[in-house]
Amino acid sequence: MAIRKELAKRSGAARRSAASQSSSFALSSEFRVGIGNDIHRLATGRKLILGGVRIPFDKGSVGHSDGDALAHALCDALLGAAALGDIGRHFPDTSPKWKNASSLTFLRHVRQLLDAAGYAIVNVDGTVDLEHPKLAPFIPRIRRKIAAALGMKPEGVSVKAKSGEGLDAVGRGEAVRPEAVAKMRARAT
Ligand code: MG
Repeated sequence: MAIRKELAKRSGAARRSAASQSSSFALSSEFRVGIGNDIHRLATGRKLILGGVRIPFDKGSVGHSDGDALAHALCDALLGAAALGDIGRHFPDTSPKWKNASSLTFLRHVRQLLDAAGYAIVNVDGTVDLEHPKLAPFIPRIRRKIAAALGMKPEGVSVKAKSGEGLDAVGRGEAVRPEAVAKMRARAT
């Protein structure tokens, strides 16, 4: 019994030590990652804009801004990596300031926030779930637009596309649903 108690005490001490190490690691970590996603309804009479590129289609993304769901998911991934909140906090959809705004403005603003917080973006990666149209022909332009807004080279920006296989809101052609991740590093001071 005494041995068991002693072992329990030691493992508790080991856990506390590991926890304190991991929290100091988190504070001084050079690299950080963030995740973001979004979903917008598709409707006639709206433009379909993804990564700042107008995609010709008979339906578009419903939203307060230009409805660029990919840019929104990327903003959240970038803000998340820096623990700076989310897109709704920085660009509320109740503000007339952002009505029909280009979401590239949001990306540029997020980049400035990261810059001020001492972070440099390493790379971003996004996947757009969309049933129609096929995005492949537009992806090089989308990558260039996002890269320009973030002050990066297009090599640091990856964009992929997936259909919804006829399933759920994406598959029925009712929604566009991107997700994104971002990696950044703390700039040397
Ligand atoms: Mg959105």
